[in-house]
Amino acid sequence: MAVRPIHNYPAPVLREVAQAVGEIDDEIRTLVEDMAETMYAANGVGLAANQIGILKRVFVIDIAADDEPSALTVFINPEIADAQGTQSWEEGCLSFPGATAEVKRAETVTVRATDAEGNSFELEADGLMAVALQHENDHLDGILMIDKVNAIKKHLIARKVEKALAEE
Ligand code: ZN
Repeated sequence: MAVRPIHNYPAPVLREVAQAVGEIDDEIRTLVEDMAETMYAANGVGLAANQIGILKRVFVIDIAADDEPSALTVFINPEIADAQGTQSWEEGCLSFPGATAEVKRAETVTVRATDAEGNSFELEADGLMAVALQHENDHLDGILMIDKVNAIKKHLIARKVEKALAEE
């Protein structure tokens, strides 16, 4: 297992569309383990493969609070099968250090995906989990939270990221 470097906005790889995973082999299992380790090392609640420069349809989510046991969920070839209602969250993203964006998304989503053992599953989620699912699923299509805000906010977010990276 290894922590891999995260690509920050505006890295072009974040705009690429990830490709479907075929067989779930050792390479994919290693990718999933590395993604989980990278996400935990950065204190994130989600990470998509694009963010570490791998164009495969994989993301990991763990929304458990610090004082709760970890609850890692792996999504390979995810598809949002249903979306209902609306909600707004102040979202963060590991590719946007120092910035957040208030984004309007569906309140409840149903996702179909395959796990790291190759089993397909379906998950219905609301609240933060639904937000994380939509945010990470967008990454696989090259869509970022900055695309969901107006031009002024977009500019502010870009400046905050630039500043945070300059201070690193
Ligand atoms: Zn993100």
